[in-house]
Amino acid sequence: MNYHRYIDVDVVNGPGTRCTLYVAGCEHHCPGCYNASTWPLNSGHPFCDALADQIVADLNDTRIRRRGLSLTGGDPLHPENVPEVLKLVRRVRAECPGKDVWMWTGYTFEALTSAQRELAQMVDVLVDGRFVQELADPELLFRGSSNQRLIEVGKV
Ligand code: SF4
Repeated sequence: MNYHRYIDVDVVNGPGTRCTLYVAGCEHHCPGCYNASTWPLNSGHPFCDALADQIVADLNDTRIRRRGLSLTGGDPLHPENVPEVLKLVRRVRAECPGKDVWMWTGYTFEALTSAQRELAQMVDVLVDGRFVQELADPELLFRGSSNQRLIEVGKV
């Protein structure tokens, strides 16, 4: 898996102060996408164990308290990304107690494959669906267009 950017202290992508990872690869190609440079799977830089170690350490850093991890992109649920993101989320669940995980995807929850769903069900909140320019609304919290949903996966 490749990634574009890692922000160790982020207050924009999700609630509270967070760590945010932008992965590479998205097959949705929504018109008006704010992050089209992330579409190719081979764009950005290779994700590695050292970065996973850093994310875990940052989430556990008591000097700057983070509420959790945000996974965006690109699409963390792109089939090519699922195994590596699953590994990362499993580590966060095991090694970062009390931290939440938010994930943004262009797929709708109902359309997920079983592998995608296994991963999606490990996060706290899934923001799902493609960005639809006609439904864009800057007043919406944590999503770009009104078709997208904030799904508390544990309650589904
Ligand atoms: S799903 Fe997100 S990253 Fe992918 S094209 Fe749509 S807006 Fe861009």
